[in-house]
Amino acid sequence: MQSMYARPGRRYHRVELDKVKQEWKALTTKEQKMRYIEDRKTFVAQSHEIAEELEWWHQELKERAAADKDSVKASRYKAVIARLRQEGFGDELDRMDQACFNGLARLDGVSRATKLTDKGWASIRDSVVEYMEKFKSLRLSKERTERLDSRFPSLKHVVYALQHAKHADSKERLYAGVADVAYMPQVRTIIEHTPADVTKDIIKTKLKEVLPELIDIWVEERRSEVIDLLRKELTVGSEVAPESPEMLQLALAFFRCTKCNRDRLRWPQVAEHRCGYWFNEPSKDLYDQRLKRHVGRTEVDTPFPGVKYRGIHCGTQYTRDVISLCGKDPNTVTYAEMTACPVRLSCRRCATYAKQTVFDWKGAIAHDSEHRNNRLDPIPGRWMVVSEENAAKARALEEAILAKPVNPQDPGYSNRVYHYHCGWCGFDGGMSSMYSHLEQTHGRARTQIKLDRDFYMTQPYEVEILMYSQVFAESEYEKEEVAAGKAFFASF
Ligand SMILES: [Zn+2]
Ligand SMILES: [Zn+2]
Ligand SMILES: [Zn+2]
Repeated sequence: MQSMYARPGRRYHRVELDKVKQEWKALTTKEQKMRYIEDRKTFVAQSHEIAEELEWWHQELKERAAADKDSVKASRYKAVIARLRQEGFGDELDRMDQACFNGLARLDGVSRATKLTDKGWASIRDSVVEYMEKFKSLRLSKERTERLDSRFPSLKHVVYALQHAKHADSKERLYAGVADVAYMPQVRTIIEHTPADVTKDIIKTKLKEVLPELIDIWVEERRSEVIDLLRKELTVGSEVAPESPEMLQLALAFFRCTKCNRDRLRWPQVAEHRCGYWFNEPSKDLYDQRLKRHVGRTEVDTPFPGVKYRGIHCGTQYTRDVISLCGKDPNTVTYAEMTACPVRLSCRRCATYAKQTVFDWKGAIAHDSEHRNNRLDPIPGRWMVVSEENAAKARALEEAILAKPVNPQDPGYSNRVYHYHCGWCGFDGGMSSMYSHLEQTHGRARTQIKLDRDFYMTQPYEVEILMYSQVFAESEYEKEEVAAGKAFFASF
């Protein structure tokens, strides 16, 4: 500040001070000096008065400049909005809330106090359009989420109700999962591409029109896949077994899952066994993500229907061996024929002189898997064929036990019958889980739930009959077991 001269507490205008010094030096008489001092005093007093006015004026100038700047900014913002409408964002702008507009106004290229020229627009266009596109994609994703979330429950409802009605008096029950159905292209079109204002009832009607046929086709596709697994089993050398739906009736048509080691899966349950599906990667697609939240928590509703029969294999040497031991040809004997087969077997690995368990063919296959330890080939001679006389006694006891009526109210019932299937979806499990599943997933009141309507028994009680040596004929415990119809005394 060359022009200023400062002393502690005061500041002077240097040029003015130098001028005063010069003038003062030029004064020679006392009168001149006195008058000069008076003149200066008057000048300073006047200056103070004017300074205040000047201050007000200066402030006003500043405010007017700021207002001008604001109005330039506002018209620039308006011009940006007009440009966006020209670019086709009118619909988007009409949907934006105040917070979104504030964000737009604060963008670096928008919040400027200069008029928007063509050149100026070209330089900021990309960042402004990017902002609009981001808003648009967020809005679309939110709307799509809302639409999916309101439609998947309708899909579930229709899928469950249709299959419940379809299977009411059917012998062959295969339930398509909600995810299986949701990925059918026609269904996906209804869910995703019906306009947002279409009501749930119309969506349901549209689904009911297409689903029965689509589910039937889906069932036939699953049947072909399972038959293919069987044909591999029955292929000898280069002679491929012909395709035939009757194959599923073969006693050999047992499948096992190498993922969970579950065996003795038969059609149609094998088609609902999807434990291998869970190994899929999480999806980035919104349809997959929302669907995952809506499907039931059952294997069948695993939302990756594209993967077929992971780890499912047909038959084993063990199955063939047991069927052969019963005197039948594994390649041709049917499940029904084997079920009527009178032969009974006893396990040489477990048998003692005191007692032996008597198994039918299915019980023997199950029992083999308890001994197996991953051996690929069965040990010859591990089974003994029970004498005809003892087999007849065992069969009589089996029949008596199975003839007792099934009543869920009976004590011990849940021990006796242990496998059930939901009558609405692919859920299967024990008695207590079935009740809670029907309540939670299908909204059935506990008191209203009925066997053979809301759920079915899928695997009848497996009867194991014991043979006790005659030596125990007078022993308390064995006598009680025999009296209860679970065992008999025999010579072996
Ligand atoms: Zn499994
Ligand atoms: Zn054994
Ligand atoms: Zn269910």
